Parts: sequence; structure tokens; C-alpha cells
Amino acid sequence: MKNYSIKALREALDTKEVSSVEVLEHFKTEIETHDQKINSFITKTYDHALAQAQKADEAIAKGEQKMLTGIPIAHKDLFCTKGIKTTAASKMLENFVSPYDATVVEKLDQAGVMVLGKVNMDEFAMGGSNRTSHFGTVHNPWNRDHVAGGSSGGSAAAVSAGFALAATASDTGGSTRQPASFCNLTGIKATYGRISRWGMIPFACSFDQAGVIAKTAEDCAYMFEAMAGHDAKDSTSHHVAVPKYSDLLNQSIEGLRIGIPKEFLSKDLDPKIAAVIENALKQYEAMGATLVEVTLPNTDVVVPVYYTIAPAEASSNLACFDGVRYGHRCENPQDLQDLYMRSRAEGFGEEVKKRIFMGTYALSASAYDAYYVKAQKVRRLVANDYNSVLSQVDVIMGPTSPDLPFRQDSKGGTNEYLSDIFTVGANLAGLPAMSIPAGFVEGLPVGLQIIGRAFDEGKILNVAHAYQKETDWHTKLPTLD
Ligand code: GLN
Repeated sequence: MKNYSIKALREALDTKEVSSVEVLEHFKTEIETHDQKINSFITKTYDHALAQAQKADEAIAKGEQKMLTGIPIAHKDLFCTKGIKTTAASKMLENFVSPYDATVVEKLDQAGVMVLGKVNMDEFAMGGSNRTSHFGTVHNPWNRDHVAGGSSGGSAAAVSAGFALAATASDTGGSTRQPASFCNLTGIKATYGRISRWGMIPFACSFDQAGVIAKTAEDCAYMFEAMAGHDAKDSTSHHVAVPKYSDLLNQSIEGLRIGIPKEFLSKDLDPKIAAVIENALKQYEAMGATLVEVTLPNTDVVVPVYYTIAPAEASSNLACFDGVRYGHRCENPQDLQDLYMRSRAEGFGEEVKKRIFMGTYALSASAYDAYYVKAQKVRRLVANDYNSVLSQVDVIMGPTSPDLPFRQDSKGGTNEYLSDIFTVGANLAGLPAMSIPAGFVEGLPVGLQIIGRAFDEGKILNVAHAYQKETDWHTKLPTLD
């Protein structure tokens, strides 16, 4: 059952081959047997899931089920869940229980899902390997000496290991696509403004967008249908109508124009990764698409631009964690200053502190023009580059990451920042983007990235689905001994 797609499980539930309560039992056993090797869950919510499963079975008995009724999922632990801990993988929020649900959580509940728990991530979504989590690293189910990616490492590892059929994720600078790529899964981030950010613990507000990680583009389409749409509670959310993504999956891709940025497949790219991507592109050509060489000339500066603006926004967002209203509070503060300083020093991990320093510096009077304003100007240039390329082609393709899943003992920090080079561009430009399984190098997965026009999620899902109808990379799953 853990190898099922959402669609396959839907059929099994609808034909009463299995009940939602039995589905819950199955996944619970998988998690309890194997998650100590993977560390994907921070909080398990079996009682909550049981109530949802019973409700799902009643709906099925009455013939009132929807596509996601009784489907087991997990939430990245930055989506607020009423009455259930939401930690953002930080000591700061170790015991935080939100008084309300995130809009994404609420919408998925209404769609009938069964939530098995809250999954691990980099602390406050800052990182690309899940090693900054207060709750420990996540192990890649393909090879546990390697990371599952980040920041949505728990989401990817849980789906890959067969603990849930899909998981919510977020993508500020690649955090949905890179872990999907590292775990041989399909991950999609929405256009900025497509999915409500209400109740999502913020990292960098002008970039943050929800995403989903599942096995197939089709499953992502079902999840996105439930998650997307305008929300009055998020002032950056758009009114653009949400299409039925699953109806668009089978459109022909004959004549599709695919832009291949020369900066993405340059001589610096690991030739083994390049070979996997080139094979995938050949497959698209065989399916009737045309490859067009394009240029994204500011690619070499996207990492510094992102790592200037995102920490600046983070430093402001994280100012609310002061030990007064909520979150970690130090013992016996001497005075208010001591309360602020020690609560923050104890509650935040190293990477988060580093970003608060970098961001505060970029926003300081002496550095503001030289760093923050400059980075904003270059961000505009990057967005213009992407939009101008996307006026000539339908989608952009290339590798999701220049690296294979890192070894657990590899160097993180700045080294890791550089590996965001292909993903952060879509965030700077606010565009929808995906990663789909495209092959393996040394037994480790490699993802193909597909970037689309704003609000054209339907197109990239369609393009991804077309590939998955012709290839079987996405069907390959790891075995957990
Ligand atoms: N690796 C990026 C970072 O560390 C990704 C973050 C994200 O998308 N949440 O900032």
C-alpha cells in the first residue's frame, strides 16, 4: 500500500478493498517500524488521524468521498495545526501549540485527508540538508549516509520511505524541489501568491510559497487542487482562478518549446549529472518538444542576491521571538534585556543566528544601500531575465541541483548555499517550478527541474506527467532494510 499513488489508493478505498482505518494502521506500522532509521517525523498524530479516517470511511459509505478522502499525508512542521505542536524544527518553538490551523491545513482537512503527523525540516526552513533541525538530521532512504535534502527533508524522506502518500512542503529558495530531487520524488512549488501563506511560519515573506512532495505529477495535481486559491487572510494571495489541474495533465506536449539556459548545463556541471539531464531532454525531444538554447545571464549572482534578501527578511520576521509572547523563555531573567538576549541565544540554533546577523547587517544604515537595495535591484533583473525567456519558450528545464545528495558528514554552511544556484532563480522571480525524477548517479537520485510562467502550474504538471507516462524513474522506490 505504501507504494500506491493517491489515485491507486483512491480506487482501493472506493471499491472497499481497504478502509481508511486500515490504511491508517498500515502506515502507522510502517512509521513505527522504520522511522527510527530515517527521523522524518517530529510529531505523530495517530489519534487525530483516526478521527479523520473514521470520518473518511463514513463519507465513503455514503458515496460522498472526494479525491483526497482518507488519503494519508504529513505536514511540514511549519504549517500551523490547531491543538497540535508546530515547532519549525526549532528549540524556540519546541512546545508551541498554535490556536489556529494554517489555510493549507484547513483546506486539506476539508478535502478529506488523514494527517499522520508533522515532519522534520531545517530550523525555520533555513538550510538545504535538514542538518540545522533541532530534532536531528533526516536520513535519505536511498542511502542513509546521505542527507534527504532540505529544508523539507522530512516531507521528502517520509514520502520516499512510504510513511505517507504526499507531504506538504515550502519553497523559499528550493526547499520543495531540492529534497524531492534528492529522494527521487516529484515536488512542486507554486507561483508566489497562488497558495495562502496564512499560518505558515515565515522565513522570508517575499519568497515563501507552499509546495507539495509526492510520487507523481498526477498526485501533486490532486494536492494542489485542494491547496491553491485566494485567501483574504493573506494579503499577497492572488485572485487568479485555480484550474482543475488534473484535467490538464493529459494535454499533448507536441510542439512544446523548452528553454535550456546555457548557464544551467555549463562545463562546470558534474558530467554525470549533466548526462542524466541530457537524457531526459532527449526523451522530451522524442515526445515532440523542441529544445531552445536560452540565457539567464545573471545566474552567477542569484545565490548572493538570495542570501542577502532572504536573511534580511528573516531577521525582521524572527524579531517576534523575544521570550515574551510565545516560544522559548530563559530561566530567571535578571531584566528585560537579559530575557530577550538569553531567550534568543538559547532558543535559536547556529544557522538561524547566522542568518539573523547577516540580515540585520544588510539592513543596517551603513550597509543598506550597498547590499539590500543593490540586491533588490538585481532581483528585478533576474525576474526580467526569467520572464523574457518565458515569453519565447513554454517552460525552462535544467538540473534541480548541481550536486548529488550530500554526505551527512560533508561541510554545510556556505558550501551548501552554492548548491542553490539553479533553484533560487524561480523564487527571486516568483515563478512556479518542479523537480521530477530523471535518473541515478552512483545509486543516488537526480532531479530534472521544470520552471513555468506565473500561474501556469497546470502546464508544468502537464509537462511532468507527459514524461512520467513514458518513463519509470518515478516508480523506483528505496528499500528500507
Ligand atoms: N537552501 C535554501 C536556504 O537555506 C532553501 C530554503 C528554503 O527554500 N526554505 O535558504
